[in-house]
Order: sequence, then C-alpha cells, then structure tokens
Amino acid sequence: MSKGLLIVVSAPSGCGKGTVLAEVLKRDNFYYSVSATTRPPRPEDVDGVTYHFLTREKFEELIASGGVLEYAEYCGNYYGTPKKAVEDKLSEGKDVILEIEVQGAMKIKELCPEAVFIFILPPSLETLRERLEKRGTETAEVINKRVAEAKGEIEKSYNYDYVIVNDDLSEAVSDFIKAVDAEKLTAKRNISLIDSILGK
Ligand code: 5GP
Repeated sequence: MSKGLLIVVSAPSGCGKGTVLAEVLKRDNFYYSVSATTRPPRPEDVDGVTYHFLTREKFEELIASGGVLEYAEYCGNYYGTPKKAVEDKLSEGKDVILEIEVQGAMKIKELCPEAVFIFILPPSLETLRERLEKRGTETAEVINKRVAEAKGEIEKSYNYDYVIVNDDLSEAVSDFIKAVDAEKLTAKRNISLIDSILGK
C-alpha cells in the first residue's frame, strides 16, 4: 500500500498548467515526477529536470523492461512516467504529482484507482484561443487545431475528480491545494484512523 497521495494533473495546452504547478510546488512538499519523452528538447528544457530526453529505441527498451507506469503517444512522440521513482516516493510518504495527458491519466485510473485526478480548465474556449494567439508562436491553422484538440481533452474532464479553472493564478493554486487537502480528509482514505478510534 502506498502512503503518499498520487495526484494526476491534466490540462489542454494553453491552460497555464505549468505555471499553476510551478506555484503549487513552491508552496507544498510534493514530488514532481519527471517524465521520459522522445520529443526534442525546447530551449527552456533541462534534461533530467523538465524531462528525461530519450531516443525512440531507449524509450521502447524502457517500455519493454516494465520501467514505465504508463505511456502514451502524443503528437508523434512518446511520453511516459518512470515507475521506480514514483513508487519509491509514494512509499516514502510523499505526495507525487504526475503531469500527464488524458490517455495516460485514464491508464493510471485503471492501474491505480486510489489516485486523485485533477483537471485544469480554461475559463472558456475563447480565452484559450486568445491565450494561444497572444503567444504568437503558431499559425491560425495550428491554433484552430489546438482549440479543437483542447475541446476533445476537456470532454475527458468529466472522468476527473476535481476541476480547477485557471482564470486567476493565485485562486487556481489555492483551489489545487484545497482539492488535495479535501481529498486527504475523505473517509475512504482514513479507514485506519476510523478503525483505531473504534479499537478495531
Ligand atoms: P509537452 O511536449 O508540451 O511538454 O507535453 C505534451 C503533453 O504530454 C502534455 O499534455 C503533458 O502533460 C503530456 N505528458 C508529459 N509527460 C507525460 C507522461 O509521462 N505521460 C503522458 N501520458 N503524458 C505526458
């Protein structure tokens, strides 16, 4: 039985998930799981910190050896959660955050039904479009594709336990902490406490 809480977080691209999580990580003592990926590093990436960057061959070896808890192919690249680090941290009692897309999240739901699932929403699809346009890095065609993809991903949020709207950053961060704190107070996570009070 793991002692820490496994927290799965998903959001469409452009929802500010990275910013919310960076603030959450400053506030609380979570362990952020560093994923493995075959996508090429971006300028802001640091190998071993933002991702473990692997070749397709190495990634496939990792899958074959059972080294990933889950993996998915997203936009032509593999992304996966290294199993050992997550298991070790959970057994040390740390709360572990997996920042993963929806297919991987649904795999974790099957494998670890005790995990808690949090989805970060944009205030609206229009706001999401505006945010993507402001970045100025993509063409109108790509932005339309991103918004359509986001809609598909948001459809999956019905399967999550908590939804957080990232409109005001500090509210989103405090909602995230509230969701985790509320989750820890649920009866199903406190069976042994109840048992001990009952002398069972
Ligand atoms: P990006 O390439 O923008 O860093 O990430 C693309 C998507 O892959 C994001 O939705 C991110 O949450 C997701 N992702 C990152 N790591 C993993 C992982 O280990 N497993 C899965 N399934 N998705 C991941």
